[in-house]
Amino acid sequence: MSGSVEGFRVEISRGRCLKDPTKVMIEAFYPEGFGDSVEMLALILPPLKARYSRQNRCTTIINEGRLIGVYSDGRILFCAKDMDEIRSILKYVRNLLEEASRLVREKGPPRVEDVEAYGRISVFKLYDYLPKTNCGLCGYSTCIAFATKVLQGEAKLKDCSLLSIYEWKHLVIKLEKDFNTTILKSLGWFA
Ligand code: SF4
Repeated sequence: MSGSVEGFRVEISRGRCLKDPTKVMIEAFYPEGFGDSVEMLALILPPLKARYSRQNRCTTIINEGRLIGVYSDGRILFCAKDMDEIRSILKYVRNLLEEASRLVREKGPPRVEDVEAYGRISVFKLYDYLPKTNCGLCGYSTCIAFATKVLQGEAKLKDCSLLSIYEWKHLVIKLEKDFNTTILKSLGWFA
């Protein structure tokens, strides 16, 4: 079965989703392709919610336990149970792609090396930029727990209030030197 949903041509296969057999595999297609927006897509999401593959020119988004593959040639692959779910997923991906495309127009395409480095930011790497006092002011009992939530997109880096104190300015200088503005925005360092 095929049709048009949210501006995409959608093919609903008979193949069952391997992870959840109540769902079927969906292939949506945008004939013009997504070009460099696919790399930018990986930069605007938290590192634990998206992974870029240089080999496949694909960003895999992890959303509510579901994997959504977005390819530069215009394909979007995911599993869904009905049309409402298909529509909702495609609307979510389309909004992300519009934001990614706007950033590519404004800033130019991101370097693949930067996208891959962003995807490799680990909890321990981010921890290096935190004061490591485990003061709990951010709402998490340890800096490690806070770093994990930031990488999952469930907390914002600016919520570590100690980073605004002069004593920790050297960490802010390092942070702003090591990461570009798109990455800092994705980590919640600024709006
Ligand atoms: S506010 Fe900052 S220093 Fe305090 S626990 Fe949270 S991350 Fe660590």
